[in-house]
Amino acid sequence: MQVLLEKEKEDFKQRTQAFIDTRLNKSKELNLKALWQNLYKEGLINKENGVLQNILLSEILCKFRPGIGLFLITQFTCIEIIKNFASDSLKEKYLNKLFSGENISCFSITEPNAGSDVSMIEAFAEKKGNSWLLNGHKIWASNGSISDIIITFVQTKSHKDKSGITCLIIPSKCKEVEILKDTPKLGVEITPSNEVFIKNLTIDENSQIGNLGDGIKIALSTITLGRIFCAAQAVGLLSGVLEESIKHSTKRNQFGKSISDYQAIKWYIADMTKDLDAARLLLHKAAWTKENNSEELNKLSSMAKYFCTSAAQKHSANAVQILGGAGLIKDSYVASAYRDSKVLEIYEGTNEIQRLVIAREIL
Ligand SMILES: Cc1cc2nc3c(=O)[nH]c(=O)nc-3n(C[C@H](O)[C@H](O)[C@H](O)COP(=O)(O)OP(=O)(O)OC[C@H]3O[C@@H](n4cnc5c(N)ncnc54)[C@H](O)[C@@H]3O)c2cc1C
Repeated sequence: MQVLLEKEKEDFKQRTQAFIDTRLNKSKELNLKALWQNLYKEGLINKENGVLQNILLSEILCKFRPGIGLFLITQFTCIEIIKNFASDSLKEKYLNKLFSGENISCFSITEPNAGSDVSMIEAFAEKKGNSWLLNGHKIWASNGSISDIIITFVQTKSHKDKSGITCLIIPSKCKEVEILKDTPKLGVEITPSNEVFIKNLTIDENSQIGNLGDGIKIALSTITLGRIFCAAQAVGLLSGVLEESIKHSTKRNQFGKSISDYQAIKWYIADMTKDLDAARLLLHKAAWTKENNSEELNKLSSMAKYFCTSAAQKHSANAVQILGGAGLIKDSYVASAYRDSKVLEIYEGTNEIQRLVIAREIL
């Protein structure tokens, strides 16, 4: 595995940082669709980029605003599903539009009774001639309210069964698909999360992605990428809270000296620095396994997701401690990072589920 970044990737990091410095404003609302389109126009998103480049992009953007990560994860994951599993005509119809940001996508499998155990989904599609008739209720659909298309998963057998789950692509903007207003949540608020009701939606049978009954295989094969992106989001967030902790602790004086002169604060910062480096190395190793289709991919993507998001949660709590009262100001960087990091421990598979995956791969 290559540990040090090649010059080309270092240049890419610098170009991404320059884009943020010149084009984005911390205090302004972000239009995610416009952000993607501008990244595409600048060449920072393109079809030729490998996994490592895309996770570098995500890490740097997430240092700026950690919540952007979930938007990126979702769009990149949907692109991956279409690239790897969709028919040529679906690829033709959607891939260019997704890369350019003309279309924003949403990945929707979770339901009220199917969270960690996605085999319990109840959304159902029935074959009617050359069409599918769909009904279902989905929750936590990221990008839902800003999406043009939804990649969703439904039962296509008459009884609930893992082997009868099929992946379909449906339009977001039609009267049969009701996307409720954004679910208010603890953190990662920039990316919308939505509850979705699908009521008697008829779609062409060619909207099916992969074979009948391949839904779980498609979801699980793509979730490794989602986990690596989630780890990148955590690494970006962690590098942001480290920077804030250093900035504040070296400026703030109490009892006649800088608080960074006290051992208590030094230890927080030393631990953060150590874990950031370890997290980034694990992230890059996981990205390497994805790019090279290594048999360790499942284990490494779960290890990276688990380690990086736990480290982000622990150290953003410590960053709030270092900033004292200033760290409690609701919209301060560290207060929102603290809330965001908790959310990261839950999506793309909770950290308990990551441990199950790692143990299963080892045992
Ligand atoms: C912000 C956000 C964005 C999301 N985005 C999407 C999205 O875009 N698309 C989508 O389809 N879904 C999305 N989700 C859903 C997400 O994948 C689920 O929330 C997650 O998988 C956990 O499911 P749950 O919330 O139902 O928790 P549950 O599965 O009910 O778990 C509750 C608790 O039980 C534990 N637990 C469950 N099973 C086991 C077990 N076997 N062993 C040990 N512990 C266990 C869990 O770890 C957790 O601590 C998102 C969720 C959030 C919060």
